[in-house]
Amino acid sequence: MEKILFLAHTEADGAMSRAGLEALSAAKKLAGELGCGFDAALFGPDAAAAANALAGCGATTFYGASGEAFGQSRYATDAAAITALCKAASATIVICADDSRLSRAVPGAAHRLGGRVDAHVTGLSATGGAPHIVRWYYRQRMSAELTRVQRPWFVTVSGGVFEACSGAPGQAAVTAVDVPDAASRTTVKEVLTPSDDERTIRPDAALLFVAGAGWTKKQADGQPHVAEAGEIILGFTNKAQASLGSSKSLVDMGGEGQAVLPFLTHLHQVGQTGATPRHPKGLATCCHGEEPHVVGWRFIAERRAVNLDANCGWAQGKCDVLYVADAFAVMRAVNEMLG
Ligand SMILES: Cc1cc2nc3c(=O)[nH]c(=O)nc-3n(C[C@H](O)[C@H](O)[C@H](O)COP(=O)(O)OP(=O)(O)OC[C@H]3O[C@@H](n4cnc5c(N)ncnc54)[C@H](O)[C@@H]3O)c2cc1C
Repeated sequence: MEKILFLAHTEADGAMSRAGLEALSAAKKLAGELGCGFDAALFGPDAAAAANALAGCGATTFYGASGEAFGQSRYATDAAAITALCKAASATIVICADDSRLSRAVPGAAHRLGGRVDAHVTGLSATGGAPHIVRWYYRQRMSAELTRVQRPWFVTVSGGVFEACSGAPGQAAVTAVDVPDAASRTTVKEVLTPSDDERTIRPDAALLFVAGAGWTKKQADGQPHVAEAGEIILGFTNKAQASLGSSKSLVDMGGEGQAVLPFLTHLHQVGQTGATPRHPKGLATCCHGEEPHVVGWRFIAERRAVNLDANCGWAQGKCDVLYVADAFAVMRAVNEMLG
């Protein structure tokens, strides 16, 4: 019989992230299909408080590793906590979010426990009575369903695939787990993060707004309008709290000495050699819609594009609605409507 363990860390406010709650749904789903129940393991400054928020989630036993040492993302203490929690629960399958903190610490814990990790998993099932996962290969072009014999088997789940579990708060009985080797030579002095307005990649946003190279090209008056393009793009993404993506051509321009939009980096690049974000809606502007770019839109449910060219790539069945229009004029009007 498998022993499934849902694993999560608490956030700065003591609560659980949405990605964690989605991984909880994944654990519940697999446990339900295997008919084996599941446990939950939490680490953070106060794991008991987080467990209370999930009290009614269906976990058989809650394990908690609490302490100031687990208040920060730090490999040494996180890997030690995960190892101790998995040992305490005798877990054979460990399911957690693929956030940066867990993605960094889980491989170390798996190695210490002699287990294996599969990352960025998008599906879990009990095919033929045995646990199976689904994950994508070769930049999201091929998906594979696979199982493993090694245990413990760590599975990190991609965000946006499962519904976030609403844990039904209550009073959880938490088994406190001691983490013997939680000592660390690393002290986190300060965490520097951009403010919400500076941060333009918003994985949880309802809309992905993609800027293409056309924003920096000569327009009808024979001149480029790069500064205005920057204002329009940031104006929209900030007002709509949309996530900003880019085509490769636009982020590559800096290296070619051309006028650039300074807030774009290669992290914004969507496509075959970029990211494959997940958002319910996407709007591409001044972007041609070539296949190496559009392949990164695989997980964008509803797609719209604004392009001057009625024969651009988007028109070849790659978007739901193509507005043949000047994106400067369209987005200026949209920004005005947003106030
Ligand atoms: C191996 C390989 C990997 C690649 N990987 C990626 C990748 O990961 N991501 C990626 O994006 N690309 C990738 N590419 C490049 C890709 O093929 C395209 O070259 C790139 O996506 C084009 O970017 P673009 O559409 O922004 O620019 P352009 O092709 O220059 O298109 C600009 C568009 O803007 C429109 N336009 C101009 N002004 C306006 C206006 N005022 N209003 C509306 N529309 C306007 C034009 O009509 C044009 O369609 C890859 C290519 C290769 C060979």
